[in-house]
Amino acid sequence: MKTTYALAIHGGAGTLLRSEMSDEKEQLHRDALKAALAAGETVLSQGGTAMDAVIASVQSLEDCPLFNAGTGAVFTNNGFHELDASLMEGHSRRAGAVCAVRRIKNPILLCREVMDSEFVMLNGPGAEQFAADSGFEFVDNSSLSTQFRKDQLVEAIEANRVQLDHNDSRHKMGTVGAVARDQHGNLAAATSTGGMTNKKYGRVGDSALIGSGTWADNRSCAVSATGWGEFFIRSGVAGRIATSVQHGVTLEEACRQMIFHEVETLGGDGGVIAIDNLGNISMPFNTPGMYRGWVKEGSLIHTAIFAEGE
Ligand code: ASP
Repeated sequence: MKTTYALAIHGGAGTLLRSEMSDEKEQLHRDALKAALAAGETVLSQGGTAMDAVIASVQSLEDCPLFNAGTGAVFTNNGFHELDASLMEGHSRRAGAVCAVRRIKNPILLCREVMDSEFVMLNGPGAEQFAADSGFEFVDNSSLSTQFRKDQLVEAIEANRVQLDHNDSRHKMGTVGAVARDQHGNLAAATSTGGMTNKKYGRVGDSALIGSGTWADNRSCAVSATGWGEFFIRSGVAGRIATSVQHGVTLEEACRQMIFHEVETLGGDGGVIAIDNLGNISMPFNTPGMYRGWVKEGSLIHTAIFAEGE
């Protein structure tokens, strides 16, 4: 039986305040979100899979320099970009993830290749060796750089020197993700990020971790997270939302419980986008804003940035 398709995306949560955002910046971000939704919806409207749709949307956001994934990724403490990404397919619960890759333009495409292999997760140089063996082209790490991210790194390093607290890191989120249900009723989720500005020591966040930043299971829902990764890992966000839904909690309640009671209670912040097997969408966050958008079969594309639902 054909089901109606639906798709939701995010471009990161953080200190996004209407009072601090120019009309031009807002328009640029909304246009990029719309383009990413359109890329995924094209797949879904033609009867394509949720997996292909979330990859199309995330690839579009990775290629957009405005977001912290692929081109435009934040800098590590020593001036590189190290990219984390993961994806999961709801009907098979197959999954693919890579972390700390430096020379892959679209990590989400590499995740798919990993999912199709005997492995679930590959890291750094090994992931790149696998990419080379699979025919991926490498890019220079510096080709992912933007001036905006360089300025952020300088600011973050200076802040560390004067021992400012972690509040400052709230400005540095911008991970991207997508969740979808296709016409066949299947779910998928994908997440991609440069991580946190000024990260050190091979730090890996939740975005690469199946069960924390990404999860999809046709019996419940698909989830992609964004936020302060350490807290999302410690809360097991994406997998635990799915478990709650599987046990009868509504999607909205399960997502809100995780963000406002688990992550927030530990001192973390961020948000999730989630879609259940009935096509319901939920996207709560405890930051001032989260770049987000959604579309359902037969309805217009919507985008929103601020907490008031706009
Ligand atoms: N969750 C990501 C990380 O901790 C960052 C983000 O969502 O912006 O790596």
